[in-house]
Amino acid sequence: MRRSLVIGNWKMHGTRTSNRELITQIQTGLNEGQNCDVAVCVPFTAIPDASATVANSTLRLGAQNVANAEQGAYTGEVSVGMLSEYDCQYALVGHSERRQIYRETDELVAERYEYAIKGGITPVLCIGETDEEREQGKTFAVIDEQLSAVINHCGIDSLSKAVIAYEPVWAIGTGKTATPDQAQEVHAYIRNQIAAQNADIAEKLIILYGGSVKPENAAELFGRDDIDGGLIGGASLQADSFLAIINAA
Ligand code: PEP
Repeated sequence: MRRSLVIGNWKMHGTRTSNRELITQIQTGLNEGQNCDVAVCVPFTAIPDASATVANSTLRLGAQNVANAEQGAYTGEVSVGMLSEYDCQYALVGHSERRQIYRETDELVAERYEYAIKGGITPVLCIGETDEEREQGKTFAVIDEQLSAVINHCGIDSLSKAVIAYEPVWAIGTGKTATPDQAQEVHAYIRNQIAAQNADIAEKLIILYGGSVKPENAAELFGRDDIDGGLIGGASLQADSFLAIINAA
């Protein structure tokens, strides 16, 4: 039985003051007996404050990216060791905004994934097709390509230490959510592809859905067999809507 997971992705939002308020509101609003794990991936500069706030609580902390090296001349990057000092447990890798705006390739994403795992942080590998790719019937081919880049680089066993987020690019920040059937179809495909190589890892793997999840659609999405929770962008920026989504998990 997989335990649900809900992760907020704050992207590049907030101020020091507003981010402190938001994390405190989320932490205060979590039920003691909540039956899902919850994390927030905050901007790098918010990590120290957030780390102090979530200490001794069930709320977990994550980063929005991680370097593909341990240390050295990598201007602008933040290493897994640096994140671990602040008790980050997760790092997003391969978010579509990184792939599209910053041209991160499958190879670079696989290296970031590798360094997260080596450093003891759970990579949340984001994969998903664009609108055009879906229309051209390439959804599964894109999933195969993005997934196999990581499996070829780090091996199938690495997925026992990772989380996957299926995020159709056309659904991110657009208000256009995948239907539960569309999402379940791709989640099942991902699990089956992995099961073909290792059934036990596939069975235990947490696969999140991301893309315009809101309190109104969360329960139906999370109710599907292979959808183990969500990666939440916009709706994680308000404590009320994020908490409502957590309650739906
Ligand atoms: C995301 O950025 O990972 C995301 C899912 O965003 P949104 O929920 O705003 O679509």
